This record gives sequence, C-alpha cells and structure tokens, in this order.
Amino acid sequence: MQRTDVLIVGGGLAGLSLADHLQSQGRDWLLVEAHEACGGRIRSSVLAGAPFDVGPAWFWPGQPRIEALIRRFGLQVFDQFSQGDRLFQDSTGAVYRNRGHASMEGSLRVAGGMGQLVTALLRALPGDRVMTGTAIAALRQTDGRIVARSAKGQIEARRVVLAVPPRIAAETIRFTPALREGAIQAALAIPTWMAGQAKFVAVYDRPYWREAGFSGDAISQKGPLVEIHDASPSVGGPFALFGFVGWPPDIRAQHRAETITQAVAQVQAMFGPALGRPLATEMTDWAQVATIATRRDWAGPAGHPAFGRPPELRDLWEGGLHFGSTETAEGFGGYLEGALEASDQVMRSI
Ligand SMILES: Cc1cc2nc3c(=O)[nH]c(=O)nc-3n(C[C@H](O)[C@H](O)[C@H](O)COP(=O)(O)OP(=O)(O)OC[C@H]3O[C@@H](n4cnc5c(N)ncnc54)[C@H](O)[C@@H]3O)c2cc1C
Repeated sequence: MQRTDVLIVGGGLAGLSLADHLQSQGRDWLLVEAHEACGGRIRSSVLAGAPFDVGPAWFWPGQPRIEALIRRFGLQVFDQFSQGDRLFQDSTGAVYRNRGHASMEGSLRVAGGMGQLVTALLRALPGDRVMTGTAIAALRQTDGRIVARSAKGQIEARRVVLAVPPRIAAETIRFTPALREGAIQAALAIPTWMAGQAKFVAVYDRPYWREAGFSGDAISQKGPLVEIHDASPSVGGPFALFGFVGWPPDIRAQHRAETITQAVAQVQAMFGPALGRPLATEMTDWAQVATIATRRDWAGPAGHPAFGRPPELRDLWEGGLHFGSTETAEGFGGYLEGALEASDQVMRSI
C-alpha cells in the first residue's frame, strides 16, 4: 500500500493548484486523476493542426489568482475578438444584425489555449507524484488515517482532498463510515458548473465572418447553437467559431451526427455560405463525461449558483476529509478562478 500525507483526488485546475501549493511548502502529497490526462474541464482539441479550447476559454479582469498564475508561467494573454456586428437569430430562423447581447468583449484568453495552464503546472510538479488513470472508488477512515481504494490498489493518507465536483464525489465514491447526516444530500444539491453543456467548434482556413464585418458573437433562439463566439488563435489561423449547443443532452447524444450537421448549417445560414465548408468540426459533450457530469447536471441551473461550502461539508472525519473543487469556492465558485480559490481555502485547513 502506498502512503502519503495529503491525497488529492482529481487533477483538474483545483487539484493541480493544491499540489503546487503543497509542493512549494515541501509537503508530502500524491494526486490521483481518473482520466489518462490531467486538466478536468480544461481541455484543448487539436483541429486542423491547432489547439482549440473545448472547455473553458475565458478569464476576466479582477480574478487575481489566475492572473498571478499566468504571470508566473509567462503565458501570453489576448482579448476575446469582438470587433464587428453581432447577430441574432429568432426561433423562425430569421437573422438580424446587431440585436441581442452576446458580446464577450472584455473577456481574456490564453494564447495556445487554457491547456497551457495545465501543461505549465504539470511541468512544475514532480511527475512521480501524479498518478493518472486512477479513479478513487472508495474511502475508508480508520484510526485517524484514510485509505483510498482504486482498481490499481490502495493509498493511505492523513488527509484526503476531493478536488472533484461534489456531485461526482457523492455519486461515485463510497464513504466508510458514512459521512454525517445531510452531507451526501448537500453535495448532491451543488450543481457542477457548465457540466451539462456541449461545445461545438468549427475551424476555417479564413475568418470569413470577420471579412464580412461580423465579430462572431451571436445568439440564436432556433439552434442547435444558442450562443456563438470567435474562437480563433491570437495571431494567424486556422480560424474558428465555437457555440454552446442548446439541444438537450439526451437528444444530442442520440443524434450526434445530425447535431453537428445542423450546427454547420446554422453558422452557414447566419454568417454566410463559406461557413458551410469547415476544415474540421468537433462537439465536446461534457454531459456525457462520467467523471464531470451526472444526470442531475443535464438540466443545468437557471443562473450562476451561489457556490461555497455548506456546513454539512465542513469538518468531515475529524478534519481528515475536505471538498475542494471550484464548486466549493466562496467567492468565484464555478470559474477557473474559483478552482484556484478552492485550493487556497483547503490549504488553510490541512
Ligand atoms: C464547456 C465549459 C466552458 C467553461 N467556460 C469557462 C470559462 O470560460 N471561464 C471559466 O472561468 N470557467 C469556465 N468553465 C468552468 C471551469 O472549467 C471550471 O471552473 C474548472 O475547470 C473546474 O476545475 P476543478 O479542478 O474544480 O474541477 P474539474 O476540472 O472538474 O476537475 C475534477 C477532476 O477530478 C477527476 N475525477 C473525478 N472523479 C474522480 C475520482 N473518483 N478519482 C480520481 N479523479 C476523479 C476528473 O476526471 C477531473 O479531472 C467552463 C466549463 C465548461 C465545461
């Protein structure tokens, strides 16, 4: 059995940031990640030879932790492209110029994609402390220690930090002894931010929408894409638009090819005929990623929830067990900044 002081479950931004803090303090830690690659909701896909964000793409001024991390790693930042006219499509398919409010002007992006953050953090960490392809299925507390079980074996730790969405922890990890009354219910009640979403990306050799005077920002009441933005790199091409898919998760899963065909037809109808010939397309459906989304997330919250740590999820197992994904951040819950904030919160109590 492996032994460590702090076991971090989950290699998204929150887990990696916590590992980074512990490493900088010379503490003993291990991180386990269910997938073969770290990053969690941060993911880039290489399409037509270039990386595109299929998870988070933006951060915003006034988010101090992410700004500091980007500065520390010397990553290049650029403004979300938003010059030109916006488009609005009503439910009949009619398209109007400069109606609706889809502009993401003022949002910031990282050159090369958000995955650069994950790559930089992983480079700063000792590789033998990060175990990918290892999903924790059960946690058992005995004599002030916690034993974590995965298909690959057992790890014993003094502290365990669940840097996974609370709903995922509640639905997929068996706790022995059972957590205090109300804890599982409280975890299940916390929506996983953006987990029910699917992101569609279409890549082009030229920015045809920019050439026609459009920013790429659009809102549609017809769909399948309900909100569209420019997703091109900071300089040069290939160029891209991305859109959030409005069709429900079960429909887009059953009719995946049709959803993609309709999404291409939609951007062609809205921005012009050249948009009908993308170099590449991809739809990343987060609702189907079992380590991020549960069926509870398929409907999605109406607005941005008030995240934080409910009392039922504090001081668990005599301070041995902690929740620490973005959903538990007190100030910036849900955002990338919240993932970093969650790791700061956990550091104060382990
Ligand atoms: C489509 C989309 C767009 C978004 N856009 C933005 C944006 O523009 N700006 C922004 O600030 N935020 C955005 N977000 C939110 C942002 O992605 C999250 O705030 C952030 O990535 C959460 O990081 P995390 O580490 O807390 O959780 P996660 O990234 O969910 O990481 C949790 C990790 O735990 C792993 N895991 C789960 N169960 C286990 C287990 N049993 N054992 C081991 N590992 C396990 C998972 O595989 C995952 O890697 C977006 C999210 C999505 C999906």
